[in-house]
Order: sequence, then C-alpha cells, then structure tokens
Amino acid sequence: MSQTYLDPAQALAALASYKSRDGLSVEELLDEQLSGGLTYNDFLILPGYIDFSAHLASLESKITKKITLRTPLMSSPMDTVTETDMAISMALLGGIGIIHNNCAAEEQAAMVRKVKKFENGFIVDPVALSPNHTVADVKAIKEKSGFCGIPITETGSMNAKLVGIVTARDIQFHNDESSPLKEIMTTDLVVAKTGVTLAEANEILKTSKKGKLPIVDEQGHLVSLLARSDLLKNQEYPLASKARDSKQLLCGAAVGTRPDDRDRLALLVDAGLDVVVLDSSQGNSIFQLDMIKWIKQTFPNLEVIAGNVVTREQAANLIAAGADGLRIGMGSGSICITQEVMACGRPQATAVHRVSEFARHFGVPTIADGGIGNVGHIVKAIALGASAVMMGGMLAGTTESPGEYFYHEGQRLKRYRGMGSIDAMSNKSAGKDGNAATKRYFSEGDTVKVAQGVVGNVVDKGSVRKFIPYLITGLQHSLQDIGCRSIADFSQAVYDGVVRFEKRTASAQLEGGVHGLHSYEKKLFQ
Ligand code: GDP
Ligand code: GDP
Ligand code: GDP
Ligand code: 5GP
Repeated sequence: MSQTYLDPAQALAALASYKSRDGLSVEELLDEQLSGGLTYNDFLILPGYIDFSAHLASLESKITKKITLRTPLMSSPMDTVTETDMAISMALLGGIGIIHNNCAAEEQAAMVRKVKKFENGFIVDPVALSPNHTVADVKAIKEKSGFCGIPITETGSMNAKLVGIVTARDIQFHNDESSPLKEIMTTDLVVAKTGVTLAEANEILKTSKKGKLPIVDEQGHLVSLLARSDLLKNQEYPLASKARDSKQLLCGAAVGTRPDDRDRLALLVDAGLDVVVLDSSQGNSIFQLDMIKWIKQTFPNLEVIAGNVVTREQAANLIAAGADGLRIGMGSGSICITQEVMACGRPQATAVHRVSEFARHFGVPTIADGGIGNVGHIVKAIALGASAVMMGGMLAGTTESPGEYFYHEGQRLKRYRGMGSIDAMSNKSAGKDGNAATKRYFSEGDTVKVAQGVVGNVVDKGSVRKFIPYLITGLQHSLQDIGCRSIADFSQAVYDGVVRFEKRTASAQLEGGVHGLHSYEKKLFQ
C-alpha cells in the first residue's frame, strides 16, 4: 500500500493548520501550579530562523530608566569582585561595575573617582602646577593619580595664564627632584581655543602628534585639557559605557540604608557616581523605601537600583517609591546559603520572570542577580525579561578582581566570599552604623551573627578583557540561533509568544551535558 504525501510546497500552510506552536510560551513554561519554581537549568529556548550574521546582533539594553549599556553585563558589589580595576574594565567593555561598600566611605569614593577619571573628553579640572613647583611635585602626582602630563600656569591653578607643560618625558631622566618646573617645562605649546568642539580638538591633537592639548580662553588662561591616550582608549574600546558629554566611564556603587549611608552617598555623588545600588538581601523594607525617596529628593539626577526582590509584591513597593531599576535574586548566588538557613527566597528563573513581567509595565528595567554560571544562563535571564545580569562568581578569580592569587594542590586560585559570610560581616573598617555586609542582612545589632553566605575559592580565569568579549560573542551567537537581532526584539518576541520554550527533564539535562566520554577537557574560548 503506497502512502500519499502532502505537496512539500504546502509545508508552511500545513504548519499554520496546527492549533498551537511547538513548545511553550513563557507563561506556560512558568506556570507554578504545574511545575513549581524553575531555575535556569530547568528549561531551554527553542531555535528560530537565522537571516543575519551573529556579529550584527545588538546587545544594547537598559539597566535603569535612563542608563542604556551596549552589553547587558554588570559586576556585583562584593569585596572579592568589584573595586577600581574591575569597574574600569567592565565599563570599557560595554558593561558596568558596581563598587562594593565593605570599606570606609572615603575609600569607596576614591575608587569611584578613579573610574571616573580613567577616560575623558575634555578634562575640565586638570591638575595644574606653577613654574615654581618642583619635579618632586610632579612625581607625587604620578604616584597618587597615575598621570604626569601637567599644564603649568602662572599661579598653579586653573583659569590662570598657561605658561608651559611638563610631561613624563620631561622628568624621565631628571634626577634632581628639587629642580623647579620652569627649568624643564616646554613653553612652545600647541593649544586650542575654548568653543572648539571635541571632534575638532581631537583632530588638532592627532595632527600635532603631542600627548596633550591644553584648551585656553581669549586671555590664554587654561580652561581644560585633552589627552591623546583617551583617543586610543576610545578607539580600542568601541563598546565602552560612557557619559554622553564628559566621555567619562560610567560607574556604579553600592550603599546600605542606614543613616550613615546618606553621608556615604554624598561622597560618592561628589566623586561622580552615575548609579547607586541599594544593597540588601531583602529590599522590601521601610528603610529602603525611605532611602529611595530621600535619594530622589536629594540627588534627582542619580539613578537608583533597588532590591533585592523576587516577588511582584516586593517590586510594587520599590517601584512606587521611585526605583529606576530592580535587582532580582534571593538565595540563588553561588556562595549563598540563604534559602537553606532562612527558608526564604525563590528559584531564580521564576523570580526573574514574575518581577520583570510586572516591572516592564512601568518602564522599570530589571537585573537578574546571582546564579549566572555560563553564557546560556545570561540568555535565559534575558529571555525571562531581565534587561541585564549581575555576576559575582563568574567574574571572581579574574585578574581584575580584588585579592591575590595563591596555589592549592597545583591550581591557581583566588578567594571568593559571600557578603553574608561570617568573614565579610567581621570587617571592622566600614561605617559607624555597621559594615556593609551586616547591613545587607539587617544584622548590625545582633550579638550572634548568622551566616547567609560562605567563603570559598575559584580558579584563575585570566583577564576580564578576554572573558567579557567571550560572553558577548557567545550571547550574539545565541541570539542568532533564536533568530532575534537584538535584546529588545528578543524580549518582545518572548512576550508575544513567538519565542518558545521547553522544560528539561532530569534526563534531558544529562543529555544536554557532555556524556559518555572517558575523559575530556572543557576549553570555553580562545
Ligand atoms: P600622562 O601622559 O602621564 O599624563 O598620562 P596619559 O595621558 O597616558 O593618561 C592620562 C589619563 O588620565 C587620561 O585618560 C586622562 O583622561 C586621565 N586624567 C584624568 N584627570 C587628569 C588630569 O588632571 N591630568 C591628566 N594629565 N590626565 C588626567
Ligand atoms: P563615540 O561613541 O565614542 O564615537 O562617541 P561620539 O559619537 O559621541 O563621538 C563624538 C566625538 O567624541 C568623536 O570625535 C569621538 O572621537 C570623540 N570621543 C569619544 N570618546 C572620547 C574620549 O573618551 N576622549 C576623547 N578625547 N574624545 C572622545
Ligand atoms: P537597632 O535598634 O539599633 O538595631 O536599630 P533599628 O534597626 O531599630 O534602627 C535604627 C535606625 O536605623 C532607625 O532610625 C532606622 O530607621 C535606621 N535604619 C535605616 N536603614 C536601616 C537598615 O538597613 N537596618 C536597620 N536595622 N536600621 C536601619
Ligand atoms: P553569583 O554570581 O556568585 O552566583 O552570585 C552573586 C550574588 O549573590 C551577588 O550579586 C549578591 O546578590 C548575592 N550574594 C553575595 N553574597 C551573598 C551571601 O553571602 N549570601 C547571599 N544570600 N547572597 C549573596
């Protein structure tokens, strides 16, 4: 008996005759009545149709109402993850670093200032000296701030007559530290006049082949400075997250919600902070609501990321108080024991979907925080509605994370600790109302400290300058497989039911991992 087939040209019409599409919609996937709370490993995204090359996929996404990044990647405010080096690298690569607050307020502000000073358009407050200052003064500036291209003015301050410049080369082989700068400074200067645009000034700098371009007013008074090294940084890091006008890198920092955190925040804002993260394991508190309102009144231009939350009810309070972004996650972090000890929290995939689906109606972006262990987890967080992800463990153990490498049983390791670990809570150097770690867990007044995190070690991952580009390329290939050209398209397609999902049984998870080999090496990128 011969079987009759449909005409292949009718395949699409036949497909349309099916009542539903293959796989599940996001709502069907996350139906808690059916399957309880889900984690990233419990599901997969079904592939779509590819009609573009991966490098064209746009990863642009918001982290707050007003801040858009070119890559949706954030480093966590933890004292083994984000200090100056990490924040600079994250911003150069298109993400953003959130500097931790488990240190004195002044130290945290100094870190923010360093990030903000790292790259500039016009340097509007350049360090200047007078002709009578000495070589030793220039070396001291180099030691403290890292640069030594110093314009020399009559009085040694800005807005005074520019008379020369001293740069690294002028002092390189100059052994007499007491020599006054008037003896070594260059006086034959290429300058530009105020009113010049950044693009024009950059052109002058390029053609002059000098390292610095001072900008002066009609009277020859110093108004600002341009550095050649910034042109190179701009060229080398096209994705960098920068403020539109100043071209300075964007920088975030964490604070608590105690009274002394208000003083801390004032110092951070003075250092140029762009976004503050209210760091609490449970953000739905009267303290946080008051803090958000106070910040919005006191620093109306500062973006506020509130959290953490895992339910719509928590989110509603913070959104109503004025949060510009929300951080989602409770107990999903790799170093975290909250769910075990407090019996409180939520599986992360469900938390991200529930909160993001609610927050989007108010234009409030969400950040999936904790439990990101590979590129696939980032894609899944975004599929569930997060605008960005925050990573701790993924970035710990990199060259840019704080701490020293050490060897253990032949492996090169770095420490990575939870902010709710006894170790982190025992840090004495923070503020009068308790350190950041105790505040995060509302334990400032406790005589017995109950840990919500552990202390561990992670393997050396090399530099984030290589690792983040790997994550970016991986994300672009994933978007290509799914058939979405941008994160914005992807999110919309999920809510429209176009992007489909599938649950993974335990055996599906085994199948999806490497299996059946005697041994293998897992090299992730090159
Ligand atoms: P220098 O030649 O030793 O001055 O250093 P580079 O030009 O290589 O790097 C200086 C970097 O520091 C640039 O990215 C500047 O934007 C930044 N910077 C921030 N503030 C200042 C400042 O007051 N003076 C100078 N010279 N650079 C600054
Ligand atoms: P882009 O996204 O960095 O290209 O920024 P824009 O498109 O706004 O660039 C406007 C002008 O600013 C161009 O001439 C850029 O070369 C210049 N520019 C961008 N970033 C920097 C920087 O960090 N330093 C300096 N000096 N110029 C910059
Ligand atoms: P305790 O009695 O010393 O433990 O302090 P409380 O927790 O009762 O609050 C002390 C003061 O700090 C009050 O004025 C609170 O409003 C304020 N506060 C602000 N943020 C926080 C926070 O994150 N934790 C706690 N415990 N208090 C905060
Ligand atoms: P990871 O990326 O390592 O999986 O998780 C990092 C996130 O875990 C942080 O951004 C923070 O939200 C959370 N976290 C950091 N330290 C602790 C801790 O000690 N306990 C808990 N419960 N969460 C932590």
